[in-house]
This record gives sequence, structure tokens and C-alpha cells, in this order.
Amino acid sequence: MTELRIAIVGFGKIARDQHVAAIAATPGATLAAIASRNASLPDLPHFATIEELLSKGPPIDAVSLCTPPQVRRAQAASALAAGKHVMLEKPPGVSVSELDPLIAQAERSKRTLFATWHSRYAPAVEPAREWLAARRISSVHISWKEDVRVWHPGQTWIWQPGGLGVFDPGINALSILTRIMPRPVFVTAATLSFPSNCEAPIAADLTLADATGLPITAEFDFRQTGPQSWDVIVETDGGRMTLSGGGRRMAVDGKVLSEAPDAEYRELYHRFVELAATGAADVDLSPFRLVADAFMLGKRTIVEPFVD
Ligand code: NAP
Repeated sequence: MTELRIAIVGFGKIARDQHVAAIAATPGATLAAIASRNASLPDLPHFATIEELLSKGPPIDAVSLCTPPQVRRAQAASALAAGKHVMLEKPPGVSVSELDPLIAQAERSKRTLFATWHSRYAPAVEPAREWLAARRISSVHISWKEDVRVWHPGQTWIWQPGGLGVFDPGINALSILTRIMPRPVFVTAATLSFPSNCEAPIAADLTLADATGLPITAEFDFRQTGPQSWDVIVETDGGRMTLSGGGRRMAVDGKVLSEAPDAEYRELYHRFVELAATGAADVDLSPFRLVADAFMLGKRTIVEPFVD
């Protein structure tokens, strides 16, 4: 197998926490360079911008865009134009419509565009999907509450237009929901709480449904201190299924049926290598559309200012 030579663009928290180790652990993938204005790794070619990387860098086959969503579309377009495969961190951009030209460009250039949803690769998500496929579901509740100061320290982009605020983690829950539900779901109402000094919400309550009227609720909150929650609770005719820990553990009526250590990013790179071998695309915008709809439908309330 020829190695997929990958450059990471935007060497921030998630690149350091997950991408470097995941590439190292993925057969067929090699980290070949970094493009980031203020960060680098010893012994790896470094460039301040993606333009420099593409014009002066070593030979690479692919880029993994770990920058904030506000700058990713332009970077993806440059990389595709240079003949590179592109992996996008989630969320895939700042608007649903900006993905259309990228999808078309990737198709024309026969290069992979991979819009990743890392939470879908959490180990108990597929077992949960399979278990639910054989059950009658009566309701779903999502509780996704974390402390933004712990998980996103100093990330001003998250509070700016396109940064999504609490939907930055909340979209992970929606990526799981859209994977495990047997039918498409849609937003019917939302309440968004905006700090008076921010352009993105710090909390959101969503009501969703499917074509059968299934009641689905979701609570997203960035102000959580103490225990954090990344849980999806599904009531069914076979009992209460709880998918917790962001998709790492699945239990039915308290009995654990599936639990495994995190390997989400290794699975993502395994998939990227597989897609790039044929230039196939993997772009599912359904979680992103739910967020866009929540913004479109959402009632807005102003809450106290956020100070990091
Ligand atoms: P981050 O720590 O802010 O890192 C992003 C990096 O991109 C920055 O360190 C910066 O590096 C570069 N950058 C920032 N603004 C830029 C700009 N205007 N133009 C070009 N480069 C810019 O953010 P992160 O937490 O890694 O998140 C990045 C993406 O990964 C987000 O979409 C997020 O949703 C996703 N993600 C994050 C996590 C998490 O736990 N943090 C988990 C999963 C997914 P330089 O200053 O060196 O250029």
C-alpha cells in the first residue's frame, strides 16, 4: 500500500490531542508536514499557511484541516485545486450552502472530501444503532452539558459568527442521533441562549421529531461545572437504552451491553485512507442541517455575558 502523506493544517488543541497520535497509529498514513501560524512539531516541515505548504512544501497527498470552521472552506478549495485529498474537522464549515461547491470540486478533481463526525466512531454507537433497529422507540432525550472553560479555553472563534457556540459540541450529539435513529429527524422548535457579549449561543434547548411524531428533546449547555454529561437516552419497548460518555458506553435498563476505550480518531484516519485510495467522498450534512435549522427556528434569549 502506498502511504497517504498528510499535512495537518491548524495545529491547535484537537490536532495535538488526537490527530498526531491517530495518524501515527494508522497503517497507510504518515504525518508529512504542518501548516500553522504559531505552532509546529520538531523534525517536521513547517509552514505558516496552507498556501506556503502547497507551493513550497514537501510532496503530500492530503490535508487534514483542524482550523476553526470560519477559514476551512477557502483552505479546502485551495487544497483540492492543488490535487490533495481533504479531511475536514467537524463542523464542516460555517454554512450548509458553502459545502456544495466543495463537493462539486472534489468530484471534478476525483479527490476525497471527508467531512468527519468523530463521535459517530465512538465504540458503542454502532451497537446502539443495531440494537435500536429492532425496537419500537417511544422517546429520545439528549443531555450534552460541558464546561466550555475546560474544553475550549481561550477559543475566541467559538463565540464569533460561524463558531457555533454550544453547538460545537452539540453537533456531536446530533451526529450520533442522525446515525442511530431509524428514520430522518427534523427540528420543530429551539430556544437559544446568547451571552450578551457573544455572537453564538452558550446553551440551547431543541425539540425534534421524525415523520411518525417521535418526541425528541436535546439540552446543550456550555455552563456545566461538576459532572459533565454526553448522554443519549432512548425509551423503547425493550427498555431504556442509555448511550453515555459521548458514545463510549451503551446500557439497557442499567446493564452495560457495550463499552470500549476511545479510538474515534484512529477510526477516522482509517476511513480517510480507505476513501483516498479511490478518491471517494464522504459528506453527510444531516447533523449540520439540524444546527442550521435550530438557528433558523430558534427563539433567542439574552443571558449574562461570558468571560473566559
Ligand atoms: P484551536 O485549539 O483554536 O486550534 C485551531 C488552530 O487553528 C489554532 O491553534 C490556530 O493555529 C489555527 N487558526 C485559528 N484561527 C485561524 C485562522 N483565522 N486562520 C488560520 N488558522 C487559524 O481549536 P480546536 O479545539 O483544535 O478546534 C479546531 C476544530 O476541531 C473545530 O472545528 C472544533 O470543533 C474541532 N474539534 C475540536 C475538539 C476539541 O476537543 N477541542 C474536538 C473535536 C473537534 P495557529 O495560530 O498556529 O495558526
